[in-house]
Amino acid sequence: MTLSNTERKIIENSIRDIKDFPKKGIVFKDITTLLNNKKAYSVLMNHLYTRYKAYDLEYIAGIDARGFIFGAALAQMLGIGFVPIRKKGKLPYTTISEKYALEYGVDEIEVHIDAFGKEKGARVLIIDDLIATGGTANAAATLVKQTGAECVECCFIIGLTFLDGIKKLEEKTDVYSLIEVQD
Ligand code: AMP
Repeated sequence: MTLSNTERKIIENSIRDIKDFPKKGIVFKDITTLLNNKKAYSVLMNHLYTRYKAYDLEYIAGIDARGFIFGAALAQMLGIGFVPIRKKGKLPYTTISEKYALEYGVDEIEVHIDAFGKEKGARVLIIDDLIATGGTANAAATLVKQTGAECVECCFIIGLTFLDGIKKLEEKTDVYSLIEVQD
């Protein structure tokens, strides 16, 4: 179940490119113009619902922070639980954490140890707005597996295919990106 060309155009046209943000040479994909566009937001969420209702998921795990917006809305539509994967230091209960490399330095994300329930093997979809190098999503997939849950797929609204993030992540889990950006 993938996007029709009409749906893809509506979503693609609602995303705004901001050159040189947050620093020179980066084209930032601004999804706030998707969120405040009721047609595009609704086409997107209905597509995600239609695709994932057949996946027998038990949780959506959203990556801090834009993954929360799509993930929480989708979990409610599917009638399943939502789990935030947060930047280090934000979650109050016992966590497990995973470091990943940034262009300069490292970052760390964490999840509550009991977030996916007591039983092992809960079916989890990870969601974020965008995959670039794949470092964040890879760390998120590692965390989900470390809790004993199963990462069924990683979903992104935008995939930057000129970087090898998607390819690397595909070694670990299925990947679905709705809009692929080639340069
Ligand atoms: P990465 O770990 O390199 O795949 O980076 C993914 C994370 O950084 C996601 O949470 C994105 O929201 C953010 N990000 C990276 N590059 C961009 C970009 N060009 N435009 C918008 N967000 C970005």
